[in-house]
Amino acid sequence: MARIGLISDIHSNLEALQAVLADTERVGVDRLVCLGDVVGYGPDPDACLDLVAQSCDAVVRGNHDEAVLGQEAVHAGLHPRAQEAIEFTRSRLSPGHLMLLESMLELADVDGLSLAHGSFGPRRFLYLYTARAAREAFEYLPTSIGAVGHTHVPAAFWESSSSDARLPEIRPFPLRANETVELPGRGRLILNPGSVGQPRDRNPDASWALYDSEAHTVQIRRVAYDVGAVQSKIEQMGLPDFHALRLRAGV
Ligand code: ZN
Repeated sequence: MARIGLISDIHSNLEALQAVLADTERVGVDRLVCLGDVVGYGPDPDACLDLVAQSCDAVVRGNHDEAVLGQEAVHAGLHPRAQEAIEFTRSRLSPGHLMLLESMLELADVDGLSLAHGSFGPRRFLYLYTARAAREAFEYLPTSIGAVGHTHVPAAFWESSSSDARLPEIRPFPLRANETVELPGRGRLILNPGSVGQPRDRNPDASWALYDSEAHTVQIRRVAYDVGAVQSKIEQMGLPDFHALRLRAGV
C-alpha cells in the first residue's frame, strides 16, 4: 500500500469533509486514515461520524471525541465555547454513533505508519507546535514515521538518526501547500496533515495530506469548500458565533 490519505480534526464540518473526500478520490489513495476529532465545534457530528466510518481504514480518538463520551477531565479542559458544542453533539448522536466513538483507538498503525491524535507519549493530547514538544512524541514513536493532528496546522518534524550518545536533533521540516515534497531518507518523521474542518493557519481551505510510502513523499493538499453554508448551519443551530467566524479567517 503506497498512497495513504491522512485526514484529521473534521469537527463536524460536513461540507469540508465531503470536499476533502472528493479530492482523495480525484488523486487516488490506497488507504485513508483519520487522526481524530471527528466531532466538536460544528453542526453535523452525526453525518461526519457516518462518513468517516464508511470511508476510513483506521480512526484514532481525539480529545473532543473523548469529551463527548463523558471523559470529565478532558471535557473540563476545553474552553466553555467548545464545551457548549460538546453538549450539542451529545444531543445529536444516536447510541450507534456513541459506539463509533467508543470503537476509536487511542493509537493505531497502518502499514508501518503510527497514528495518534496529539502525541505518542503518556500525554496523548500534547500539542506538537514546536520541535521541543515533538521530542517527547519521538521518544514514544514506535515506528520510523508517525502522524498526528490536534494543532490544526499542517507540519512535519524530522529527527536525525542518533549514531552516538548525543540526543538526536529534531527540527521542523518545511512543507508547502499543494506541492509534493520528498522526505529525508534518514532519521524519523512525524507528519501533521492540518485540519479538515477548522484550519488554523490563516488559510480557510480544508487541509489533508497524501503520504506516499513507496516514493517517500508527502503533499499537503488544500481544498476550498462552502464555508458560508457551514456558518449558516452553526447560526441556525444556536452554536457560538465564534465557531462560525473563525472558519472564514482560518484561525
Ligand atoms: Zn481538533
